[in-house]
Amino acid sequence: MGNAGVKGLSLARRLYTSRTLGLLLGLLCVSAAMYPLDPAPWVWGMMLFNGLLWPHLAYQWARRSQAPYHAEHRNLLVDAFLGGFWVVAMQFNPLPSATTIAMMAMNNVAIGGLRFLLAGGVAQLLGIGVGYLIFRPVFVPETSQLQLYACLPLMCLYPLALGWICFRQAHTLGRQKRELLALSRTDSLTGLLNHGAWKDQLEIEFQRCRRQHQGGAIALIDIDHFKTINDTYGHVAGDIVLRQLSKMLKQNLRATDVAGRYGGDEFCVILPDLPLTSAAVVMDALRDRFATLGYEQSPALKVSLSIGLSAFNPAHTDATLWLNDADQALYEAKTTGRNRVICGSGGEPEREMLDSV
Ligand code: GH3
Ligand code: MG
Repeated sequence: MGNAGVKGLSLARRLYTSRTLGLLLGLLCVSAAMYPLDPAPWVWGMMLFNGLLWPHLAYQWARRSQAPYHAEHRNLLVDAFLGGFWVVAMQFNPLPSATTIAMMAMNNVAIGGLRFLLAGGVAQLLGIGVGYLIFRPVFVPETSQLQLYACLPLMCLYPLALGWICFRQAHTLGRQKRELLALSRTDSLTGLLNHGAWKDQLEIEFQRCRRQHQGGAIALIDIDHFKTINDTYGHVAGDIVLRQLSKMLKQNLRATDVAGRYGGDEFCVILPDLPLTSAAVVMDALRDRFATLGYEQSPALKVSLSIGLSAFNPAHTDATLWLNDADQALYEAKTTGRNRVICGSGGEPEREMLDSV
């Protein structure tokens, strides 16, 4: 079943609860208005059918339908038609009629907005027309004390139930929205920030460094010969290596550091308020630890990292220049033998090579 089908089924379930309650209380309200009019047995039968059987029938009808959403749309029109029909049968008794119409309007607008409200209104008018032909009612603008009390449960309980259903719906939507937002910022394989989300953080950190005249460093980390690892040990082993690296980043960085997966076998880290030399020590320790890591499934596998580091420099006019510096340093780490950390000069003439094996 497609997305629309699932959506229709959950709508059918919600409507089942509200329709069962609304029509049961509606039966009380309409019966009190009909009783003094001494209706024919078939009218009593129809009232009982509408109040007690129809909600279950409507639910089963929608549930078994190929398109439950459309089936529920049709059920709501049936509700509205019958509502109009009972308004005439009650000879337009003011309070039960207004209650019936208001509750249905509330239901329709809550579920389908203006479009359902209008469609329901048309169906109600049709029900009024058919009822008029059958009952030829006289207008009785009187609601007795008993009829007033019979309407109170519907007037009080139904809005409460519908409000609760709408609140729960809004609550679920809010939670799903937060979950989707988190998903859209997360790399699914590693659980780290994805490219876009990390870049957003880089921009924030860049602006903060400019405002507060503070230093910070960024690192680009690339796995050496990762393609060969994939080719030799398989892509599943490759994925395990990527997850190991992300796990190590999560475990070894400070809470304020921001790690992400830049793409493929390339990772990126923001190290706020850390001088370049300290950042280099941290990254070199990480490189060292990762190089000695063993893999249960592939004991012969050893993986090294090349890391390019760059410090914030007030001469950077935007964050991409900062990133470019780290990229240059990474390139140098790759071209000078891999498995090492290289610090970018950040505009200064010298580059410092920290480690080489
Ligand atoms: P270098 O040392 O120069 O970085 O060489 P390399 O082989 O690591 O670099 P290259 O960019 O040629 O290869 C990166 C490989 O990463 C290619 C691609 O198939 C693989 N890759 C990208 N994303 C994934 C992934 O999610 N899982 C796995 N298993 N492999 C991936
Ligand atoms: Mg690589």
